[in-house]
Amino acid sequence: MIAEIISVGTEILMGNIINTNAAFLSEECVSLGLACYNQQVVGDNAGRLKAAFELALSRSDVILVSGGLGPTEDDLTKETAAGLFGAELVEHAESRKVLESYFAARNLPMAESNYKQIMMPRDGIVLPNPNGTAPGVILSKDDKHIVLMPGPPTEMKPMFADHVKPFLAKLSGGTIYSVTIKEAGIGESAAEEMILDLIDAQTNPTIATYAKTGEVHFRVSAYGSDLKEAKKTAGPVAKEIVKRFKPYVFTTDENVTLEQAIVERLIKKKMTISCAESCTGGLLSGRLISVPGVSRVYKSGFITYANKAKRNILGVSKKTLKKYGAVSRECAFEMAYGAAKAAGSDVALAVTGIAGPDGGTEEKPVGTVFIGCVVKGEAVVKEYHFKGNRERIRESTVAAALRLLRECII
Ligand code: ATP
Ligand code: MG
Repeated sequence: MIAEIISVGTEILMGNIINTNAAFLSEECVSLGLACYNQQVVGDNAGRLKAAFELALSRSDVILVSGGLGPTEDDLTKETAAGLFGAELVEHAESRKVLESYFAARNLPMAESNYKQIMMPRDGIVLPNPNGTAPGVILSKDDKHIVLMPGPPTEMKPMFADHVKPFLAKLSGGTIYSVTIKEAGIGESAAEEMILDLIDAQTNPTIATYAKTGEVHFRVSAYGSDLKEAKKTAGPVAKEIVKRFKPYVFTTDENVTLEQAIVERLIKKKMTISCAESCTGGLLSGRLISVPGVSRVYKSGFITYANKAKRNILGVSKKTLKKYGAVSRECAFEMAYGAAKAAGSDVALAVTGIAGPDGGTEEKPVGTVFIGCVVKGEAVVKEYHFKGNRERIRESTVAAALRLLRECII
């Protein structure tokens, strides 16, 4: 099976952007055991685009195309490919729904031109794009396949990993097996640094990293002629990653979230929990309570925003509030103890901080957060300094609290 890569975009031709998509796709082809003898770069021009496709179809079986799926007039890739295969463009109902809710969720008006992005070649396999507005599509005719993907790498790469790679594996008579390793505690760049040698050496399996607030996920994907072979190829690399991140790895199951792993641990240890929240206002409890079965361990949540509530409900002393303030190590400590006592739980997690935009001081700038965790009478309090807007700081706080909780119970 021969693959060919076509990178579409006048910007690439003019040297304005570096063709990293082609480098990425080439590596992926190697990992899939696909031969890749030619690459092309072509501008956003209908005639030259058509000629590029024709040339590619004359010598290759699968054409991997990136770029030119945008909403504007100069985005011609889809129209050109569909024209070559004689496929009519029709509205794709599912994509219309997705696109409309994409804009609604961002409170943005949807331009008329965006409707161009939901016109899809009849009988094409539409590839969803959760990171942007242009879905991808696979067109097939007489054992030749054209795969169209968006240009922005942040959209193209996940689409490739989730949809195109499995498609190509199947085409070449093999299969893909992937393992996801999730860690919490080491940031993305430091985490990548720790496995740079593995990433550099990768052809099969490949390693993709995905960063989430406070977590990094690695997906190890291996190609094999059958599942057994693919598993055998992925296994040692996945094992090595787990080994390097050992205490921070909370799951190797794609579907398990951090809160789920924590709740499972609490259930296993027969430990009950409660939360006392100031700046996160229930977000932390919300994360824990999203896990089915949490009722076996979760006892109570206290949103103690005002000082008076911290005193009355959690028993934080007047002296502490006066001397150190509500955002302090001492207050987080007393909040955690108070929550454990009030709820009668084995574990309590308490957060207090300044989410901004107001309320910061020189000594305690916006983003200063204290998180306390008590486990069976023993407390740990940590100080954090988060960046970003109010929402971001609250999200980072919840992620840090979950990490601290996990550290304290394992
Ligand atoms: P858009 O909706 O953003 O217009 P598109 O699918 O039409 O997406 P292009 O307009 O071709 O894609 O490219 C959009 C951006 O994606 C480029 O400005 C560039 O930053 C990036 N990009 C496109 N092609 C490549 C490539 N081959 N390598 C690296 N980056 C690329
Ligand atoms: Mg474009």
